[in-house]
Amino acid sequence: MSHLLEVNNLEVSFFTDLGEVKAVKNASFQVERGEVYGIVGESGSGKSVATKTILRLGPSNIRVKAGEILFEEDTDLLKLPMKQLREIRGNRISMVFQDSLSALNPVYPVGKKMVELLRRHEKLSKQEARERVLTLFHDVGIVDPERCFHSYPHELSGGMRQRIMIAMAICCDPDLMIADEPTTALDVTIQAQILHLLRDIQREKGMSVILITHDLGVVAQMCSRVAVMCGGYVVEEGSVGDIFHHPCHPYTRALIASMPRAGAGKLEQFLERSYIDNRDREVCPFYGRCKYAAEACENRLPMMQTVSGNHKVFCHLGEEARHEWESD
Ligand code: SF4
Repeated sequence: MSHLLEVNNLEVSFFTDLGEVKAVKNASFQVERGEVYGIVGESGSGKSVATKTILRLGPSNIRVKAGEILFEEDTDLLKLPMKQLREIRGNRISMVFQDSLSALNPVYPVGKKMVELLRRHEKLSKQEARERVLTLFHDVGIVDPERCFHSYPHELSGGMRQRIMIAMAICCDPDLMIADEPTTALDVTIQAQILHLLRDIQREKGMSVILITHDLGVVAQMCSRVAVMCGGYVVEEGSVGDIFHHPCHPYTRALIASMPRAGAGKLEQFLERSYIDNRDREVCPFYGRCKYAAEACENRLPMMQTVSGNHKVFCHLGEEARHEWESD
């Protein structure tokens, strides 16, 4: 069966006064129908840029240098005329952003904005759209939909705003939702509620979700497969079981070791150095921070190797070496 979305060899750069900054390098991944696919990595790893590029969102100084993004096998979203892409945005692929306060329009009551949005995508009267919005608000767990309908974004709590963002994202029954750090700005209890809501909606609608996060705990709870990004590259990809029980990339291993739990440490403790900028060099993006770096790592990029099945790793370390460090 074909993939719902296929990102192949994507390269994206920012062009600044100081020159080109390569944000995504040769990234490839596929999202299947009805799955929650996680993309995890630190700030600056390229995860948000790669996923915003799917809908060609981003600042004006960003440029796609190579690659293709195939939706339903044969529609390359990077080549689609803007008019057709706008029809896909919201209708077939929607997005939930981290910062709901800046994503929602501050001068409109949230209900009025959603009625407009719905009527732009579907032929509905004002009254029909209003009723649909109130139902959606109820479906995403808003206790008083009528009051919320007339509220401005700044009058709502962070959790309520995120529920509104989710209602907006599902209002046209999309095939794919991209959720970019949807719970990062929320406190722990609300985070758990929003994740439950997302999971329930995803299961009920059979929708695919790309969940972007820096939190491996969220990945473990929500995703079936995951890509780990570092320095613009996908450095490891596999099922959640592969990544948590048999991590093969030193960066993934460090991320897992630093997950909050009794006896865990900070990520820096598991690294050779806290940060090194390899963006302009053709070397492993983790070189300089990796405790297992060998001579080959300094001179050339690794190849993506298959570990088993769909579990892949972008590292020079061979299986033998990995077995050795697994027993460290
Ligand atoms: Fe470490 Fe080398 Fe693997 Fe990069 S390629 S993660 S430097 S062992």
